[in-house]
Amino acid sequence: MKVIYNIREMQRVSEGHRNSQMVIGFVPTMGFFHKGHISLIKEAKRISDISAASIFVNPVQFGKGEDYKVYPVDIDGDIKKAEEIGIDYLFIPSASDIYPGGYKTFIDVKKITESLCGKSRTGHFRGVATIVVKLFNIIKPHKVLLGQKDFQQALVIRELVKDLNMDIDVIVMPTIRERDGLAMSSRNSYLNKRERESATLLYRSLKLAERMIKDGEKSPERILSEMKNIIQREDIADIDYISICDPETLQEIDRIEGKILIALAVFIGKTRLIDNIMVS
Ligand code: AMP
Repeated sequence: MKVIYNIREMQRVSEGHRNSQMVIGFVPTMGFFHKGHISLIKEAKRISDISAASIFVNPVQFGKGEDYKVYPVDIDGDIKKAEEIGIDYLFIPSASDIYPGGYKTFIDVKKITESLCGKSRTGHFRGVATIVVKLFNIIKPHKVLLGQKDFQQALVIRELVKDLNMDIDVIVMPTIRERDGLAMSSRNSYLNKRERESATLLYRSLKLAERMIKDGEKSPERILSEMKNIIQREDIADIDYISICDPETLQEIDRIEGKILIALAVFIGKTRLIDNIMVS
């Protein structure tokens, strides 16, 4: 595995592989690798000739008062984990190279960024869309692997790839969970013991919703009310949003029919966690 810090060097390397007809698979990340990241990187290696991942904690996708300054970092640990998998390249650019003084260009995906996380994190998806387009121009991948855990993010990236005519396959991989159902996330490292125990309520409320739907419930309102009951019983939990919506448009629905997405964001203490499931 080669670790590359320089943008021009990464571009030259990728261009060389493209010229040799190699298929490049790419996993963008913010690092502090857990089994969710690992599953994407392993899949990238499996389905491409050349596999690459990036680590970049992207300042422009964090809002004021969010956790940019304290976001967990373990570059040495990440390099070790990536090496064990045997990925070809790990790209770790600096913020000053990615956004030099006078930086001006941002990507704005409309509509699907206005609900769910986009509503409570103004500007977040503008930051996400901008960094992924920049990374795609540097790594030049044929395939990009993303996690379902960040469902709205995957949808935004799929949409911008289509709208900007990028010749890239977007592949969404299942959410990897802890034994008790908590979705793996770098932010889980913020949780103390009590918070970690409470954090299972995200997945428990999603599973309850799934069970209600399987038992024939058609009313989103009744499902939302039962989910809220589970969450509000815990005094350190604070709901940011819960949404039962169409997985293509992210618009809330008023009757359960066909494929639906149930997504939520909940503060456990000061830590904002997200999760979702698709139900047919
Ligand atoms: P992050 O480093 O949090 O920006 O995540 C990098 C990529 O890993 C994104 O595509 C995420 O959706 C994906 N990811 C994060 N957590 C998980 C998980 N528990 N299971 C599967 N993929 C994940």
